[in-house]
Amino acid sequence: MPTSSLFVAQVSSGCNSCEETFRHPSMARLMLLTDVGQAPIRSVDPRTGEPFGPSFADATVEDVKQVVGYAGAAARELQGLDVGTLAEGLDRAADAVDAASHELTRLADRETALGVDRLTGEVARTTGQMRMFAALIRDGSHLDVVRSKLPEGAPARTLLRMNLPIGVVGVFAASNFPFAFSVAGGDTASAIAAGCPVVVKAHYGHPQTSQRVADLLTEAFAQAGLPEHVFQLIHGGNETGRDLVGHPELAAVGFTGSIAGGRALFDLSARREAPIPVFAEQGSLNPVVLAPTALEDPQSVASALASSITLGSGQFCTKPGLILLPSDYETTFVEALRSRVEETGPHILLTEKIFDGYRAALDRIGQVLGVDVWTGDYNAEGFSVPAAIIRVDQATLASNDELMTEVFGPATVVVSVHDVAGLQELLGSMGGHLTGTVHGASQDPWTRAAVSGLAPVVGRLIYGGVPTGVAVDIAMHHGGPYPACTSVQHTSVGTAAIRRFLRPIAYQDMPTELLPTVLTELAL
Ligand code: NAP
Repeated sequence: MPTSSLFVAQVSSGCNSCEETFRHPSMARLMLLTDVGQAPIRSVDPRTGEPFGPSFADATVEDVKQVVGYAGAAARELQGLDVGTLAEGLDRAADAVDAASHELTRLADRETALGVDRLTGEVARTTGQMRMFAALIRDGSHLDVVRSKLPEGAPARTLLRMNLPIGVVGVFAASNFPFAFSVAGGDTASAIAAGCPVVVKAHYGHPQTSQRVADLLTEAFAQAGLPEHVFQLIHGGNETGRDLVGHPELAAVGFTGSIAGGRALFDLSARREAPIPVFAEQGSLNPVVLAPTALEDPQSVASALASSITLGSGQFCTKPGLILLPSDYETTFVEALRSRVEETGPHILLTEKIFDGYRAALDRIGQVLGVDVWTGDYNAEGFSVPAAIIRVDQATLASNDELMTEVFGPATVVVSVHDVAGLQELLGSMGGHLTGTVHGASQDPWTRAAVSGLAPVVGRLIYGGVPTGVAVDIAMHHGGPYPACTSVQHTSVGTAAIRRFLRPIAYQDMPTELLPTVLTELAL
């Protein structure tokens, strides 16, 4: 079987997995790592906090140079490849991941504690995404071909504008979706569909799942006849990521994670000699406005929101993290929400870093004057945490940035607002979010103020539902103004996600035989 990465080493001893395949090409490198005392990446079971399985060495700057160099060569080979082969590669990769679903979901569950049922659904979403992009490129609409005959006397006789692949794409896998936003996720699928080679930096939270998926993709792409280095995986920390973004042959970045991480990579790109686009999907509070009409029976809306807040232990980028409601209704709503949240759990976070971040955020918020923090029960094992409901009034919220910062985990902030003018003021002062949600009635002034106040600051506006659950669809927009995303114009979910990895070119008076062959192949 072809191996997708050079950088897999089993350096640990004393574990049950010592008989697993040793893939590292160089024992010297292995010795070097242990000699200098670097801690190689290793899976940790979030339910116990115990490490398990093989270790993965960080890719060095030389490794990154080599990998991106290979990807650059693959980009040139891809120019001559027919679109049918590319689509077949995606279909084969989807089939391979589906066939391994049972094994992959069990491995990912051990690394993430997200549960086999949820992960099985996520695998289906991931492979559905790959097939969706295969179908898209077979029909050629992503090329957005526009032809124009210009009038007599114009500087040109004909113009043809179309999209070309942007070049080598670096993908930073997310922690919270080990399939759909990771190695074989939407960034990889849309970039490959666009005709771009991909280098994925695995997330340290699920390195074994990443490696296994990468091996499946590498084999499937090879069987379909795609260039050898069209897809590569590297493991590593911050430095490896920075080496990747800094490589002159990298053309774009897809990222899902924290605001700090996305912004660091965006700034790094801006400092390159040739800056490149960094499509970072970052943190979001996903404000929810509850109008008085929705609170006459608080039980049903509290029940829906409690499930959404605690789904996946609150580790969704679309988790409702800020609930705004009229102050008269606050006490009854919070009681209803609390009793529903108490029925959920246990809440186990993905990694020690996320676990530490959640506890530190609750500590800091607890010290803010005028804030009431309720926390539920939890067992003290592994990365288990309590759910939290934070109550605050509008004035306190406005004077404490901490309360307007995403708490990644099963926590939400409930804000009591005095009147519609207060709601308008609050929404008018907000930064960008992936989603906004409104519960009310169309003629209700709260509802109308919520819709008009949220539209300028969100990428998706939801009426009467919950923000978690993102449909993979042609009409989806999963993005939003900064800081939700570093590009306000693009989505990371749905067919339009491919636009991030295409660039337009206009051909002027170009003979047909010199135009890209894909135009003839697809009769465009
Ligand atoms: P993260 O810390 O942003 O890390 C994501 C990836 O970016 C990792 O590969 C990380 O490398 C890399 N990275 C982060 N900062 C970097 C820097 N300064 N330079 C170079 N590379 C950098 O995200 P996470 O570990 O998944 O979770 C932490 C937080 O991210 C959460 O608490 C949450 O706030 C947020 N998050 C948001 C979403 C979302 O969908 N918006 C999803 C997941 C997480 P290392 O592994 O070496 O750090």
